[in-house]
Amino acid sequence: MEFEPVIGLEVHAQLSTTSKIFCGCSTAFGAAPNTHACPICLGMPGVLPVLNRKVVEYALRMALATHCQIAGHSQFARKNYFYPDLPKGYQISQYELPIAQRGYIDIEIENTVKRIGITRIHMEEDAGKLLHDPTQSFSRVDLNRTGVPLIEIVSEPDIRSAEAAGAYLRKLRAILRYLKICDGNMEEGSFRCDANVSIRPHGASAFGTRTELKNLNSFKHVEKAILYEIQRQKEVIMDGGQIVQETLLWNPDKGQTTSMRSKEEAHDYRYFPDPDLLPLTIDDAWVEDIRKNLPELPDAKCERFIGAYGLPAYDAEVLTSSRELADYFETSVSAHPNNPKQTSNWIMGSLLALLNTEGKDIGQSPVSPGALAALLKLVDDGIISGKIAKTVFDEMAKTGKPPEVIVQEKGLMQVSDTSALEQVAHQIIARYPKEAADYRGGKEKVFGFFIGQVMKETRGKANPQMVNDILKRQLGA
Ligand code: ADP
Ligand code: MG
Ligand code: ZN
Repeated sequence: MEFEPVIGLEVHAQLSTTSKIFCGCSTAFGAAPNTHACPICLGMPGVLPVLNRKVVEYALRMALATHCQIAGHSQFARKNYFYPDLPKGYQISQYELPIAQRGYIDIEIENTVKRIGITRIHMEEDAGKLLHDPTQSFSRVDLNRTGVPLIEIVSEPDIRSAEAAGAYLRKLRAILRYLKICDGNMEEGSFRCDANVSIRPHGASAFGTRTELKNLNSFKHVEKAILYEIQRQKEVIMDGGQIVQETLLWNPDKGQTTSMRSKEEAHDYRYFPDPDLLPLTIDDAWVEDIRKNLPELPDAKCERFIGAYGLPAYDAEVLTSSRELADYFETSVSAHPNNPKQTSNWIMGSLLALLNTEGKDIGQSPVSPGALAALLKLVDDGIISGKIAKTVFDEMAKTGKPPEVIVQEKGLMQVSDTSALEQVAHQIIARYPKEAADYRGGKEKVFGFFIGQVMKETRGKANPQMVNDILKRQLGA
C-alpha cells in the first residue's frame, strides 16, 4: 500500500526586542542566572503585566509578511500548568482570539511552487530554564528567559514530505530574519519547531491520526525525525496496528523517537482570558504604517534579481536566501556592474565555499563586496586571467590585502606582450615537432595541447586570447 505523509508544523520564534513582553527586564542572552528578572516576570503577587508595544509591532510584521488576516481585537489568555520553570503557574499566551490568522507562504519543492497555509500567529511569553547538573541531586532554575517574547506560527497540515518541511522552515526563518524580528538561531533555541506527522493511504481524503514530535534542535533533526516517524507509522499500519495520538521525543543520538505522553495524559490547560490584560485593539492606520515599512521580502527580491540582473532562478534563489547575502551581491555588483552573473558565480562558488570551510557567515566574510568587485574588474580589464583570479582570491581571503596589491607583489599580471608571447610559442613549437606536424596534418585536437604548454611555461599568466591567436598564426604557417 502506498502512503502519503501529512505534516503540520508549530514554530516558536523568539522576538528580538530589547525588553521582555510584560516588564522592562532585558532579553539579552547569556547573562548570569536570574539577573534579568523582576517581580513581574517572577510572578510575585500583586504585580501587573504591561504589554510591550514592540512585541505587537513585530508580530504584525510577521503577520503581514505571511499574508495573514489581522484581528482588530485579540485577547491574551492564561494557559495553566505547573512546572518549576513557570513561577506564576500559568503562561500568558493567546488562545481563542490570536492576533493573526489564515495566511500562507510559498515554498519551492521539486521545481514547483507550493503554497503552505498558516493557520494562526499568536504572541506569548517564554518560560524559564531548568539547569541539570548530573553530579548534583538537585536542579537549578534560571528565570532570565521568563517573559521573553515569542510568536507561535502554526501551519495548516499542508506539508507532504520531510524535505518540504525543511523548505518551509527555511523560508519562514528567512522571512523572520529579513524582517529583523528574530535571529533564527535553532541551536540557541530562538527558533524552535514541533512537527505533527500522520500518514494516509494515497488518494484518501481523511487525515490519519497524528503524533507530535518534540526536541528538534536543527533543520537536520527535523527532517530526520519526520522521515523516521513516517517510516515507523507505515510499519505499524502494515503490521495491522493503529497509530496512537501521542507526543514523541526525538533522540538525536539514537536517531529514534520515544514516547513522552499519550493523549490521555495530555494537559488540560484551562485557558481563560487574562483579567490583568485589556483586550488588544489594533487600529488600521498602525497596520498600514507597518505594511508600508516592510522591507523587500525573499520572494520579491528573488523575482527582482532574475529581472534586473538576468540571473538564473537558481542563482537568485541562493543569493536571496538571506538578506545579508543579497546585500553583499548587490553591493558588489554596484561597484562592478559589467557582469552580474560572473559576480554571482564567484559568490556561490569560491566565496560560499570559503565561508563554509571557515564556519563564518556572510557578515564575517574576509573578502568585502568591494574587494570582490575590484578583483573581477582586474579580470575584465585583462590585467589578470580568470584562473589567476582564483589564486588572488585565496590570497585576499588569507591576508585581507586588496587584489591590486597582491597582483603587484606577486607579479601575477597577465602577459599581454606580443613579442614575449610569440617567443614562448616559438620555443614550444620547436620543442614538439611531432605534435606540430600532426596539427598541420589536420589533427586539430593537438591545438589544446599547445595552449596548455604555453600556459604552463608562463605559469598561467599568458593572455589566453593572445596565445590562441599567436599559436594559430605560427602553427598555420
Ligand atoms: P495542538 O494545539 O493540540 O497541537 P492543533 O489543532 O493546533 O493542535 O494542531 C497543531 C498542528 O498539527 C498544526 O500545525 C496542524 O496543521 C497539525 N495537524 C493537525 N492535524 C494533523 C494531522 N492529521 N496530521 C498532521 N498534522 C496535523
Ligand atoms: Mg501542538
Ligand atoms: Zn521582569
